Amino acid sequence: MNRVATESESEFHFELRTCRWAEREWAPDSSDAAVLVARQLGTKRRRWDTIVLECDPDALRHRAKFGEKRLDGDLLHVLRNAPERWTYYRDCLPDPGYPWRYVRESIHEADDRGILETRRNGNRIEIRRTWPYREWVRRIVAIENKPDLDASAARALRPQLEYDVAMALADEVWVATRKTGERIEPALLERLPVEAGILTLDPDSLENEVAWYPRRLDVDGPGTRILERPAGGPRDASPAQFEYVDPEAKSRKRLEIAERAYERGWRSFVDTMRSDCRHFELRSAGQLLPWCAAKGCCQTAVECSSRCSHVEPEPPAWRTRGWPIEGGPGKRAKALLEERRRRRRPEL
Ligand code: SF4
Repeated sequence: MNRVATESESEFHFELRTCRWAEREWAPDSSDAAVLVARQLGTKRRRWDTIVLECDPDALRHRAKFGEKRLDGDLLHVLRNAPERWTYYRDCLPDPGYPWRYVRESIHEADDRGILETRRNGNRIEIRRTWPYREWVRRIVAIENKPDLDASAARALRPQLEYDVAMALADEVWVATRKTGERIEPALLERLPVEAGILTLDPDSLENEVAWYPRRLDVDGPGTRILERPAGGPRDASPAQFEYVDPEAKSRKRLEIAERAYERGWRSFVDTMRSDCRHFELRSAGQLLPWCAAKGCCQTAVECSSRCSHVEPEPPAWRTRGWPIEGGPGKRAKALLEERRRRRRPEL
């Protein structure tokens, strides 16, 4: 029996539908761009619901040479500066700003992954690049999903959007909310930063409309990180606290976020769910969405865990064909989503 979805289930479902919509219909700035979508990524201080990457299609194909795993900040430091000819690593890599032993660890890791060549020359490690690392991301768009954007949800969302606008880490910031069909969408009446765009979306049909266009944020300029803001009111005259973030640090952070998005995509939700539970299903109505047959709803990743009171392992009989090599339905569901994820990363 289907039960009424809770707020978090409804948000999760809406988020997955937004990701699907973005993957299918996002209209990039340039006609020759490829689009990659991911979810639940960002920085230590700020996590975005949905991220749309507009990419250079050639460079995105080239990125596949480095494998599906992300390149973290330390690896990027090595790979972006690795020379064409054999060179002592300290002569070709800029000072990392942290001990060189961590650089050596990254060099060995890159070597193990087959994305950098190394050799010993006496007691010196020399490196040579396997391929140049090309800039593959053109623009990053952050979308915050709030299907039911009432006044209290808008109040909670506003500081987060203000943070995004001040930092300008993403090129654009949007709020996606459920389409109501009213003459004036209620989201427009809420006090949100004017720089943020508003998209209204019907999660079933994916019909959508731009209620408010966003402003382009200055990703190449310094960012302002809001650290603390006063509550305001007659008793609180304290100033807001903030710090500047230089453009190079922002650019590095953008690339690190893009790398994580490349690795995860948005279908990785299944990786943290109990897909091996007998009640786990993938339902397809234009998109593969998780479904819990025991609860009769699209369950969230948080509730679909070993702590769930209805969890039951797949019966061994379900796994007899091909098991243990292929596994049961849960394994197949994962493989199906993995295959779709892979299609978005050409040449992998
Ligand atoms: S773990 Fe719980 S929520 Fe997940 S499929 Fe099983 S019964 Fe449903």
